Amino acid sequence: MTSVRLEHISKRFGQTTALADIDFTINSGELFFLLGPSGCGKSTLLRLIAGLHDPSKGKILFNDRDVTALGTDKRNAVMCFQSYALWPHMSVRENVRFGLAVRKQPKPEQDKRIADVLKLVQMEPYADRKPNQLSGGQQQRVALARALAVNPDCLLLDEPLSNLDAKLRHEMRSEIRRICKTAGYTTIYVTHDMKEALSVADRIAVMKDGKIAQIGTPGDLYHKPMNSFVADFVGSTNLLTGKVVGTDAGRYEIETPAGRVFGSAVNNGFLRDANVIVSIRPEQMQVARRTAAAGEAGPNRFTGKVLETTFLGEASEHVLAVNGQRLKVIAAPPLFNVPEELTVQFDPEDVVVLKE
Ligand code: ATP
Repeated sequence: MTSVRLEHISKRFGQTTALADIDFTINSGELFFLLGPSGCGKSTLLRLIAGLHDPSKGKILFNDRDVTALGTDKRNAVMCFQSYALWPHMSVRENVRFGLAVRKQPKPEQDKRIADVLKLVQMEPYADRKPNQLSGGQQQRVALARALAVNPDCLLLDEPLSNLDAKLRHEMRSEIRRICKTAGYTTIYVTHDMKEALSVADRIAVMKDGKIAQIGTPGDLYHKPMNSFVADFVGSTNLLTGKVVGTDAGRYEIETPAGRVFGSAVNNGFLRDANVIVSIRPEQMQVARRTAAAGEAGPNRFTGKVLETTFLGEASEHVLAVNGQRLKVIAAPPLFNVPEELTVQFDPEDVVVLKE
């Protein structure tokens, strides 16, 4: 079991700073995600861990062993690429054997290991097929089996599900978690798909512009974002600018253009008159048709007109105009129509107050 420590890592390509002072530790056996928009540096960081790039500054440690200057073959971090990179002329069995043969393992040991990993990824019945006789999902499993076969210190997955269609991609999420957790290897997984990260990861590092925006469990990132970038990237959210007009025991009263809200901050202390941003998630609002009996707007309770409606299947997304602000809400049926008037209310616990 191997922990991976990244110590003040920077990487420049000419004038481009791809990574700036990355410093954190991935625990042994952890299923750890690097998540962020295109160009934020995820693949560069994965390639540094694999030994495919050298850092411009900083150190990489596997347990306490400094591997910064070691080549890929000396650090036993195995990368599984988006394209699977299977040998087309070899059977599934021979593809999985490849890394074991390179390491000169005796044949009976190779056969035992191949059987074990094909069982783990549920591909035993396909051992004699060639890659072009397999579906995309099956090829993905073989690529995983080949990477796991060599007992890696660290398994590196670069967008492993991106070539699969939406349904298979969804099914493979839990499967990939099962396989990685059963095998027990430290796994570092790159994606820009927030739902994939939230549903599979033990912990996630959200990256932006070559830096870490926040590291945490899926629950931490969703419920306790530390900045508006993370709040919006990890599930989309409504961000409203506002000013603190009251503080009481960790609860803040904020004046926003949409109306007054009460909310809490994750780890910031704000003084009265501070300019802040509040995050209110579309799915954390209770929505109802506005009636005379329902009363008027008040703190954490807005009224607004439906501007747009999108049917999502099990729910619908509505964009409301609330005092000139566009507010997204996600509501279970009934479907509301343009330009109906709705009332939305939300719990102060679900309003996160962030630094401007
Ligand atoms: P994507 O999700 O699109 O793959 P990413 O988050 O993996 O993006 P990287 O591929 O790590 O991002 O790139 C980070 C930055 O470094 C980008 O600005 C990119 O253009 C730059 N970069 C990456 N590799 C090189 C290279 N070999 N030479 C020059 N610039 C590079």
